[in-house]
Amino acid sequence: MLQIENKDRFGKVIADALSKVELTTDAQTKKRWINAIAKATVEIEENGVFMTWMENDKSLLIWSQKSNNIYTANGVCHAASGVCRAFEQGVPCFHRAAARLVRLYMETENVPVQAQAEDVPFLKPTVQVKAERVAGIRIN
Ligand SMILES: [Zn+2]
Repeated sequence: MLQIENKDRFGKVIADALSKVELTTDAQTKKRWINAIAKATVEIEENGVFMTWMENDKSLLIWSQKSNNIYTANGVCHAASGVCRAFEQGVPCFHRAAARLVRLYMETENVPVQAQAEDVPFLKPTVQVKAERVAGIRIN
């Protein structure tokens, strides 16, 4: 079962992935990857319970209820019954997109949190100095 605990971080991973796809020059490939990433995002969100992240070989196991097939994806994609049809045709499939998103998400998990605000040297707030006014009383 795959559970994305930090939705913000996962959102950032997706945004990064999409911005990388933007660099693809081939319009058709670009469109397919965007679709694959979009589908992967929905699938992870809704069917994460049917996915398992395999840390040892950095792959994602996806059980498709629709085809009752199990897909293993990292850079390539295989189905238990053979190969993923999309991958076979050289077309981006959401399995690979999902595997990549999850891998990137997992990789950022152990990155140390940036220095806390308390550790950062800061200037003490300026003390307000009130100009003291001494009123002289003149007695003529
Ligand atoms: Zn696939």
